[in-house]
Amino acid sequence: MKNFVIAIDGPAGAGKSTVSKIVAKRLNFLYVDTGAMYRALTLKAMKEKIPWEEEGNLIEMARNTKIELVQEGDKYKVYLDGEDVSEEIRKEEVSKNTSYIASILEIREILWEMQRKYREKYNIVMEGRDIGRKVFLDAQLKIYLVAFIEERAK
Ligand code: C5P
Repeated sequence: MKNFVIAIDGPAGAGKSTVSKIVAKRLNFLYVDTGAMYRALTLKAMKEKIPWEEEGNLIEMARNTKIELVQEGDKYKVYLDGEDVSEEIRKEEVSKNTSYIASILEIREILWEMQRKYREKYNIVMEGRDIGRKVFLDAQLKIYLVAFIEERAK
């Protein structure tokens, strides 16, 4: 039987990360933050100074990149080609530029493949766009999470 996938999608700010982490912890599943992968590639392109219009070079870069999402106790670490970039990928300049990376279909497909690998070994809670619709069409549970502002504040 295939490992269990809980796919969590929804608008920004609905609390996807918070809910995903809690659910993963309760069930002892692996939490996979797909946004961190897009952020890591964005950071790498910025470091390598690849212009956003050079799609071919960005795709080539993505093909030659290793991204590891690792749970260390209560912390979730992101390694980009072996380097811990967990803090750096949260910077404003990175957030501002993720859409360049996220809009390139070939790059999305590369990341989808990486995302599928996690299921081979683990039961997972995977958060982000496209997970239920593209990455795991056969996810055992698909959730679209929305929240009113009052709930988000709580
Ligand atoms: O969730 P987070 O803010 O970390 O995601 C960063 C960006 O990565 C999003 O704004 C979006 O552009 C992109 N993304 C995506 N598909 C995902 C996760 C994130 O396109 N599954």
